[in-house]
Amino acid sequence: MKSLPTVDRFSFKGKRALIRVDFNVPQDKSTGAVKDDTRIRAALPTIQKVLNDGGSVIVMSHLGRPKGRREEKYSLAPVRQRLSDLLGREVLLAPDCVGPEVETLAAGLQPGQVLLLENLRFHPEEENGDRHFASQLADLGDVYVNDAFGAAHRAHASTAVVAGFFPSDRKCFGYLMATELANANRVLHQFTRPFTAIIGGAKVSDKILILERLLERADHILIGGGMAYTFFKSLDGNIGKSLCEDDRLEVARQLLESARARGVNVVLPADSITAVEPSNEAQTGICPSHQISDGYMGLDIGPQAIKEFRDVIVQSQTLLWNGPMGVFEFEPFQAGTRAVAEAVAEATDRGAFSLIGGGDSVAAINRFGLADRVSFVSTGGGALLEYFEGKSLPGVEAILGS
Ligand code: AMP
Repeated sequence: MKSLPTVDRFSFKGKRALIRVDFNVPQDKSTGAVKDDTRIRAALPTIQKVLNDGGSVIVMSHLGRPKGRREEKYSLAPVRQRLSDLLGREVLLAPDCVGPEVETLAAGLQPGQVLLLENLRFHPEEENGDRHFASQLADLGDVYVNDAFGAAHRAHASTAVVAGFFPSDRKCFGYLMATELANANRVLHQFTRPFTAIIGGAKVSDKILILERLLERADHILIGGGMAYTFFKSLDGNIGKSLCEDDRLEVARQLLESARARGVNVVLPADSITAVEPSNEAQTGICPSHQISDGYMGLDIGPQAIKEFRDVIVQSQTLLWNGPMGVFEFEPFQAGTRAVAEAVAEATDRGAFSLIGGGDSVAAINRFGLADRVSFVSTGGGALLEYFEGKSLPGVEAILGS
């Protein structure tokens, strides 16, 4: 694997770096204050590198879904405040992301100064990948840096199209993007066996492509969460009113068939925690996952499944985990996800490489306080999934392409 072009290749002295970051942070609904600044912190090393070199920084991001027009609740003003606090220096907020006023502000930047552009998605041209809009962004900086792994699967103006306006020696990845890619590549291309993928979450339909790709590599695939019940139904099991995608039964059957043909060990949860519906007060029961009574749902993997999953996980050398094992938002259905998180941490302690990716498994590992005991927690949900599905990421190709 070629080494990736990163900010380390440049001295930014006297240069303006145009950095695409992912500052799409959770906010307090009433005050707009930043509730979790993980994504802002993740971009700091790249910004600091430019500033330490004696350059200036123009940061751009989207926030929420403002649908192509200005809406104050999607302003990056609260992000400006937090970024300024974290950097320990003033951050200017531009009134927009393109236009004469922004051009004047960018042109006047002195070394050490940071300018945050207003929400890119105030303009429909951003998501449309408009070339003129991208060229206006490109005019603001001397070097383009993409550090927005979370948006790398989008062919938007600021994530991909803009890079076309910079020659190959004036564009590169930020540290976050490079680290994300290096860790994903390690699992995809440099894994050591046994390689176990743990795939959970709600829907089979979201995970078909990644499962197909994993069949080419993994030794074991552990399937939990709501998606497991489509597999049980495809094997003629009784799943009560568990989550099921009836239009995916054939796909599920074929996935199991091709796993058998390839010698990949697919493990479905032997038993389930059941209830009439998910709630914190639910009366729960335990039963084999293919014998769930009418009117009941499988809402977490059961104790037998936990034991079987654990045995595989702790003996693995490479682990990829995407998606919770149950409706872990409710306390009665947390045990499976927690046990998997603990087993992944234990395997990592013993020397395995573990990558956790995809929104809800990341939330789970954080909730259980185990994020420091796994090898890498990815910040890119959709982007990571698409990378593992074997799709090329427009944000990555735009840097590597020419
Ligand atoms: P995903 O975004 O596809 O990874 O799905 C995450 C969601 O799947 C979470 O909100 C979980 O509550 C949900 N989920 C996990 N297990 C189950 C289950 N057995 N039944 C229904 N939903 C589930």
